Amino acid sequence: MKTIFLDRDGVITVEGGGYVSCPADVRYLPGALGAIARLNKAGWQVVIYTNQSGVGRGYITPEGLAAVHKKLLSDTNIAGGTILAIYVCPHKPDDYCTCRKPLPGMLLQAAEEHSLDLSLAWAAGDTARDIAAASVAGTRTALLLSGHTRAYEASTFGEPRPTIVCADLPSLVDYLVTTQS
Ligand SMILES: [Zn+2]
Repeated sequence: MKTIFLDRDGVITVEGGGYVSCPADVRYLPGALGAIARLNKAGWQVVIYTNQSGVGRGYITPEGLAAVHKKLLSDTNIAGGTILAIYVCPHKPDDYCTCRKPLPGMLLQAAEEHSLDLSLAWAAGDTARDIAAASVAGTRTALLLSGHTRAYEASTFGEPRPTIVCADLPSLVDYLVTTQS
């Protein structure tokens, strides 16, 4: 089984407009849930790794976050896909935890709990933090231009650089299912 880690905001859901604190706030990017289903059909298991400092800052309740993720899992199922697990860092930057991206804690925990070989895995995100966390953990990385990072910024992206740059999750899946089978 191949594994891909996906950041949430800017990869699956729309980034921007504040914290997603309840299910009614969830807006999916075009084709994102279908792309997860296509990954599953091509033999990939999908793991989410997401920073949600709004929890630590008090803008999102743990119950609200759980409801958002219940909706995400349910809507993914309706689209024909499954998500193996969702890893969340709920901390603020000044909590100095080991799970907040750009640290690799969430990927390392997932690898341990699901016996994943990170050197065979991929990770996709829309920010330098997503790419850095996954690079340190040892996966290949895809920078997606569907969130924070604009196309003109991709060419001047700092270290560590992503393995590839794609417009969005459906484009990445096109690439993976044709080249990583
Ligand atoms: Zn954390």
